[in-house]
Amino acid sequence: MTTTNTIASTSMRPDGLAAQLAYLTRVLRVPTVAACWEQLADQAREANWSHEEYLAALLARQVADREAAGNTMRIRTAHFPAVKTLEEFNLDHLPSLRRDLLAHLATGTFVAKAENVILLGPPGIGKTHLAIGLGIKAAQTGHSVLIDTASNWINRLAAAHHAGALEAELKKIRRYRLIIIDEVGYIPFDHDAANLFFQLVASRYEQGSVMVTSNLPFGRWGEVFGDEIVAAAMIDRLVHHAEVLTLSGDSYRTRARRELLAKDRDN
Ligand code: ADP
Ligand code: MG
Repeated sequence: MTTTNTIASTSMRPDGLAAQLAYLTRVLRVPTVAACWEQLADQAREANWSHEEYLAALLARQVADREAAGNTMRIRTAHFPAVKTLEEFNLDHLPSLRRDLLAHLATGTFVAKAENVILLGPPGIGKTHLAIGLGIKAAQTGHSVLIDTASNWINRLAAAHHAGALEAELKKIRRYRLIIIDEVGYIPFDHDAANLFFQLVASRYEQGSVMVTSNLPFGRWGEVFGDEIVAAAMIDRLVHHAEVLTLSGDSYRTRARRELLAKDRDN
């Protein structure tokens, strides 16, 4: 009870107020309140804020800082291969992408509802860019995210499987509200890999969101997984609660190269 006594005794003395606030804000872990209370109090006196208004303004700053720190942390732990934002994405290059749908996905509500997103389209169309951009939005709306390529996800599961810890690994992965599996289809999976991939998708069914990018339409996933039945069972689970975005058009890279070449010719 010594701490209570310390508070009681210092609170009686105005000169102890700063020390008391330093102590209380430390115990409550509210560093923004510690940093801002004095300057905001001056502002409050000048503008004749009520006590309630002052309290709300101070707490709002603390909440804003905490949310920003959470966002930074979630973006760091997602392991995005590059920082690609939706704001940097040029929608005019991709008329096949529905803007209203993209705006809806950017709110992150699909993650709250454990729904999936499938991005299909040819190489260079912007699938990875969109997946990262949407992943960043999800992180900024409070959801934990983890991204990797399909082959790396398989390697991770295979290692856990060999160690006899596949269930534990799947459980660990379920702690992430959104997992992003990039580049399904570039490398065909053998039988074991296909099964591990199926288990990953099945373990998240209606539990947590999966975002998948692939250069192949669903009709060719049987080739990737070496088994039409496994592929069909997986697609069923993926698309049951999902937005499927089928992107078509020119590769952004090819287009950029063509434009450069055209400029060269004109000069
Ligand atoms: P995919 O994953 O479909 O093969 P990427 O997302 O890797 O394609 O896109 C290839 C490159 O082009 C990346 O550097 C990406 O940032 C860029 N890019 C693609 N589409 C767009 C776009 N519409 N606006 C801006 N950059 C784009
Ligand atoms: Mg890609």
